[in-house]
Parts: sequence; structure tokens; C-alpha cells
Amino acid sequence: MKISVIGTGYVGLVTGVCFAEVGNQVLCIDNDPEKLASLKAGQVPIYEPGLEPLFERNVREGRLQFSDSLTEAVAFSEIIFLALPTPPMEDGSADLQYVLKVAGEIAGLMKEYRIIVNKSTVPVGTADKVSELMSKNTLVAFDVASNPEFLREGVAVEDFMKPDRVVVGTSSDRVRTVMERLYKPFTMSGNPVVFMDERSSELTKYAANALLATKITFMNEVANLCERVGANVDLVRRGVGTDTRIGSRFLFAGVGYGGSCFPKDVQALHFTAAQNGYNFEILASVMDVNTRQKQRLTQKVQAFFGDNLSGKRFALWGIAFKPNTDDIREAPSLTVIQELNAAGATVVAFDPEAMASLRKYHPDLKVELADNPYDALKDADALLIVTEWNEFRTPEFQRIREGLKAPIIFDGRNLYEPFHLEEQGFYYESIGRPTVDGRDK
Ligand code: NAD
Repeated sequence: MKISVIGTGYVGLVTGVCFAEVGNQVLCIDNDPEKLASLKAGQVPIYEPGLEPLFERNVREGRLQFSDSLTEAVAFSEIIFLALPTPPMEDGSADLQYVLKVAGEIAGLMKEYRIIVNKSTVPVGTADKVSELMSKNTLVAFDVASNPEFLREGVAVEDFMKPDRVVVGTSSDRVRTVMERLYKPFTMSGNPVVFMDERSSELTKYAANALLATKITFMNEVANLCERVGANVDLVRRGVGTDTRIGSRFLFAGVGYGGSCFPKDVQALHFTAAQNGYNFEILASVMDVNTRQKQRLTQKVQAFFGDNLSGKRFALWGIAFKPNTDDIREAPSLTVIQELNAAGATVVAFDPEAMASLRKYHPDLKVELADNPYDALKDADALLIVTEWNEFRTPEFQRIREGLKAPIIFDGRNLYEPFHLEEQGFYYESIGRPTVDGRDK
């Protein structure tokens, strides 16, 4: 089959590459000249494990092409996927300007029947809105379907190739047949394509993300309580997560969720509810708790060193909002850096993949960048861990001790066993677990 994908970011590029990987002809469109130049030069502009070899093979074998021309995209294929940004507006609602602009333009360019499949995360009613807008710009027949994307950055290729399920919102039998064919290679092991109406499909994506964000936030609250009652959230997590009704995933306490999806999707769902006269109370709490949770690490540092951190220097491991990505949108690290700066401290950070993103998108943020994790420690008063990259899991503790001014670690991701760190001679504070002080031992 032939497929056009508009928007070649984290979702669009993975979608395009994976559809090409199973034999389709794919044309990916982007209007960012820098991104397009890199794609055309054979370079993947984002860090996403496993994407590069698939990208290279499909470009080499002629199944994957790139362009900035919407005209070409509309002529190329009957199926046009939209993977465009839907960033949050000031009031928390999703900004639909990119989706609506492109949909309007597509309508004006259509010469025959087309299916517009929306992969962007959009509020309930967007498919109807898009249809209405397109009808004003064309007399040609078309369908608009919803096909929310559930891939996770860091494991996006695996998620796309082996999805738990594919959700499709459509009221058209023609679209249903096309989507069934298109997703057949990805659903061979019985994982379903779940068909539903467009509105339910649009809401499914928000409900899924909001529930996951709530699960994480709930466990962060449990962790905060653990600290007050002398319990250990790791043990509580194991006890709770082994209940099959609950499941063990998304139960890890930390410095709050970030990323390009959870924060904006929770906000947007809360907004949609309010717009429809419903106070979705639990989501307001989730947002409040998460904002506070992002401040936990700095609070711990200030409780230890005092509110005024002038003259102090902190090493920070991890900038990306989670491991295996260079994405720093809404990353807790940004809050930590800003708050440490505000209290007068200097920060030197290391991240295996996200340092270029930090410089590109936050050029004004006051933070030094180190070439490797151990260089960041030099003359630092303590080490703060913000992202759980694998390479931070088993570090050389001897080198950490030698690098830091004093052996002090604040761990926002609970990477180490407290008793082990005590044995290694560290003062070690984490989230929801006992603090240990092995400095004099
Ligand atoms: P992104 O910002 O990485 O990519 C969007 C791309 O669209 C950019 O490359 C941008 O240049 C391009 N673009 C913008 N306007 C354009 C236009 N007029 N013509 C052509 N290209 C244009 O965004 P993303 O992370 O891929 O997210 C896309 C959508 O998918 C969002 O709605 C998001 O909520 C949703 N989503 C994201 C993820 C994720 O993990 N990133 C997961 C599931 C769903």
C-alpha cells in the first residue's frame, strides 16, 4: 500500500519507518527545513533506539521518502496520516492549529477520495471538526478517522511493531477494511485492532494516558507517606504490584512524570471535562501532586544544605524526561535546575543523549554540561540523579566518592539500595525509602 505521513517527529517518523518496514511505500512530510535536510541526508534527527537500522534499510530499498510538499503527499496516497503537534495552550487545552491547518490544505488539494487518519492526540470531537472544515474546502469525497498512537519514546519501534492493541475510530466500512489491511502485519499474534466510533477513540487516548499518570502519581504520594511513617516504597511497590488486578508497571516512585504527553494530555482531558460541565477532580489532584513532586529533590537538598544554596555546586545525572530518549519536554530535570539556580547554586549536568536538546531548546538555562558522568562530579557538593539511564545503575562508587567534595547523593529515581550506599560510605537520600548516612563508617 501507499501511505503519506504528515509530520515527521517522534510519532510520524516511527510510523513512517514501521509502515515501510512491512513493505508499504511511504512518503513522509515535514515543514521543518532542518529536520527535512537531515532526513534527506540519511540521518535520523531524533534519538530512538532501533530506529536507525530500519530507517536506513527502508530508504536504501526505496520504500521511504521525504518531502515538504503537501501536494505530493495528497497525490501520493489514498491514506494520509497526520502526526502533527498538539501542544498545550495557556488554558491547558490542546492547540489544534497544526492539525486544522494541514487538514484544510489537504482538502484543497484533493482530486479524488482520501482517508485522513489522525494519529495526533486530539480532544473529543476533533474528527468531526476536521470533517466540517474539509467539507468547506472540497467537493471531493473523504473520510476522517481517529487512530491514536500509544507508542512510548525509548521503545517506540518495538511498541509500533508489536502494539498491545490498535485503536481505530471510524464510522466508515471502507476505512475499517483499509485499516484492518494496513495493521495486519502488526497484529498477527492476536493483539486486536479495536474499532469504535471517532469520539470514543479520541477519548481512549486521553483516558489511557491520564490513568497511567494517575498511577505514577498515586505511588509518588505513597512514597511521600513512606518517608513520614518509616516504610520503604520499594517494598510496598512489590507488595502492591504483584496483585494481578493492579500490575507491576507504572508504580515506580520518583521526581514526577514529564515528557511531551502525560502533562499535556492530563491537562487537556481536565479542560475537556470542564468545558463539558464536568469537574474531573482526580486529574486536578494529579497535576498538583506532580508539580510538587518535581520539587521534591530540591526540597531534600535544601533541607540538608539550607535554603540558601549560594556557592554550592551540584552534579546532575540525567536531563531527558526518561531514559533512552533525547526528549526533554516537561522534563523534571528542568524544574530541578531552575530551582537550584533560584536558590543560588550552580549545576553541572550530564545526559547520554539529551544535552544537545537542552542547549537547543533552553539556551538561557544556567547549567554547565559535562563530557561524561564522572567529570560532572568535580568540585560538586552532591550528586543528584534525575533520569534512570542504564549507565547510572551500576556506577563506580569509588570514583563518585573521589569526584565529589563529600559523598552525598540525592537520588530521584531510587537506583541504588540504601544499605549498599551506606556500606560504600555515602549519605544517600532517595524517594520514599530510608535515608542512610555511611559517611563516618
Ligand atoms: P513532534 O513535535 O516530535 O513532531 C511533529 C512534527 O510535525 C514536527 O517534525 C514538525 O516539524 C511537524 N510539523 C508541524 N507542522 C507541520 C506542517 N504544517 N506540515 C508538516 N509538518 C509539520 O511531535 P510528536 O511527539 O511526534 O507528537 C505528535 C502527536 O502525537 C502529538 O499529538 C502527540 O501528543 C502525539 N503522541 C506523541 C507520542 C510521543 O511519545 N511523542 C506518543 C503518542 C502520541
